[in-house]
Amino acid sequence: MADKRDYYEVLGVDKNADAATIKKAYRTLAKKYHPDANPGNEEAAAKFKEASEAYAVLSDDEKRKQYDQFGHAAFDGSGGAGGFDFNNMDFGDIFGGFGDIFGDIFGGGSRGRSRSNNGPMRGADVRCGIRITFEEAVFGCKKEVTINYKEICKTCNGTGAKPGTSPEKCPKCNGQGQYVSRQQTMFGMMQSTQVCPDCRGTGKIIKEKCPDCYGNGYKQTKKKVTIDIPAGIDDMQRIRKTGEGEPGTNGGPRGDLLVDVRVSPSANFERDGMNLYNNTRISYAQAALGGDIRVKTIDGDVKFNIKPGTQTGTRIRLKGKGVCNVHNQNTKGDQYSTLVVDVPTHLNSEQKELLKKFDEISGNTLHEFDDAKPGGTEKKRKKKFF
Ligand SMILES: [Zn+2]
Ligand SMILES: [Zn+2]
Repeated sequence: MADKRDYYEVLGVDKNADAATIKKAYRTLAKKYHPDANPGNEEAAAKFKEASEAYAVLSDDEKRKQYDQFGHAAFDGSGGAGGFDFNNMDFGDIFGGFGDIFGDIFGGGSRGRSRSNNGPMRGADVRCGIRITFEEAVFGCKKEVTINYKEICKTCNGTGAKPGTSPEKCPKCNGQGQYVSRQQTMFGMMQSTQVCPDCRGTGKIIKEKCPDCYGNGYKQTKKKVTIDIPAGIDDMQRIRKTGEGEPGTNGGPRGDLLVDVRVSPSANFERDGMNLYNNTRISYAQAALGGDIRVKTIDGDVKFNIKPGTQTGTRIRLKGKGVCNVHNQNTKGDQYSTLVVDVPTHLNSEQKELLKKFDEISGNTLHEFDDAKPGGTEKKRKKKFF
């Protein structure tokens, strides 16, 4: 890096610029040249790195003073500062709420983790699956699941050390749980922190292991957990139970239990979000004359009035007979029922006679093809008669 540009020039600010101006200038450049916004663009990556480096110095009063006095020589390596440790830069302040999205580009994974591996760390999430019936999903239910649960070992209080002894400081990382390594990357020389392999980031070495937990600090048990499944949950949705996951390390909180819910289909209803769909069979007489019909709903059968001359395939809507919103039990979907006019398949002789009679007085459809000629029915009857 022979011809390094002036840091003020890089950010496009005056030598006397205040902290807010510098921050604003960097924010603009960082957004413009961010690798996420310019995938595969090496020039943008270089510009981003250049701006970040300039900001790292100019945003730090002490470093800025040194830079103003000695220029780049203040940080050329002989001065001790060396490359920039991007892992330790606080970008959260710059990117605000984007912290999670931008967190990974500096190679260290989550910032909270890379910063201090022997600090409190949240435990991992535990996942399990559960299958419930259609009705259980509609109305909500309680279900018990058995999970593998890591319980803090009571013998050693989670230290993993034999009672009467205590864990010792790891000599490899000097109790830090991590050590810093340097490597050449596209951003230039970067420092990254590695989890210490000897103590796996805990910063402690257990010489004499606890006989009850073999040095793990916890014991694997099975635990029954009751899951409150809210009304309105749908297939493939997930419930989170905070603090029922793996135990954290070094005093960190437990992870969460994630329950993936599968809902069995119903024999009576189709579901689409909060709405329910089904078919309702009605008789020919009901369709023709209108009146009250019986409609099956998730809450039981209800009466519904149809008008005379209702056609098969007509869809009726039963407001509020759907499924409630999983986040707001007071909001409910609707039920849509398609009316299907039933054609009787087994008729006794009286029914047949009445239907024939009904047909005769309403158009004689049953005799339409008795004769090809117009008025054929009349003639045919006469023919038979002679
Ligand atoms: Zn133990
Ligand atoms: Zn170590």
